[in-house]
Amino acid sequence: MSNLYNGNDECEGEKNSSNGIDLVLKPGVKDLGSFSVRRTLPSRQQRKVGPWIFFDHAGPAHFNPGEGIDVRPHPHINLATVTYMFEGQFLHRDSIGSVQVIKPGDINLMVAGKGIVHSERTPPEIRKTEHSLHALQLWLALPEADEEIDPAFYHYPADELPTTEIDGVTLRVMMGSAYGLSSPVKTFAETLYVEALLKAGQRLTLPVCEERAIYMAKGEVSSNGTAIEEFTMAILDQKNEFTVEATTDARLAFIGGEKLSKRFIDWNFVSSDKDRIRKAREDWKEGRFDKVPEDDEEFIPLP
Ligand code: MN
Repeated sequence: MSNLYNGNDECEGEKNSSNGIDLVLKPGVKDLGSFSVRRTLPSRQQRKVGPWIFFDHAGPAHFNPGEGIDVRPHPHINLATVTYMFEGQFLHRDSIGSVQVIKPGDINLMVAGKGIVHSERTPPEIRKTEHSLHALQLWLALPEADEEIDPAFYHYPADELPTTEIDGVTLRVMMGSAYGLSSPVKTFAETLYVEALLKAGQRLTLPVCEERAIYMAKGEVSSNGTAIEEFTMAILDQKNEFTVEATTDARLAFIGGEKLSKRFIDWNFVSSDKDRIRKAREDWKEGRFDKVPEDDEEFIPLP
């Protein structure tokens, strides 16, 4: 996906210093006709959470036979993208030759490093029938020492991601270590990404790390009487134990990790160095990035 839509729209936040919640972010919603994308990070008040610098929630969207999504080839530098599908499938292709279908429960980790180009399209066989799309796509800033590493692509099938159940709550440790489980997904900075499915009335205590937040992908939870509504992101303070109780059936994403230095974002480029972004813009404009094999005719022009 990244970006399903172009531009650097920023969402609005609301200060709330009580109950261990530092800030509540409401997404900027972009209606793309057949579906919408909610972007919660970056926001003016909160540029990133640990290494997480970009948080998009796409769909849910329904497509008729013949319809689908085509995110044409576009470049990235100095970041990694993390794609996770709730519903639907994407066919990923990139300039280092990766060709991979991602299905619900899988994780695709694409490390842009010194530069990669990729496309994401609805697979042809899915496009023939009715289908849906519902996904989270997040970007990680790479630590400064790793920003210019060689590009790489990693696919982790759903059954390789550890899951457990605590007090009835289904937990999946997508990246990092929590609740006694460790994800095999490669990390750079200290990173945590956990998915939790709660039924109404169930409670969950969240891990502690330097910076952390929860995003309500579905339903609502509350903490000490403060509601965290669907599609909002609550930035949590770093010290206190934080427990939520589901007021409806709910699906949440917990993100966190170590605080990184300032990053600049411009279109699909993220870097600690503004001049590096300027060079990437120039390189894309001049056609100096590598092509995506078997998808080398279309591309997204520099905005
Ligand atoms: Mn992308």
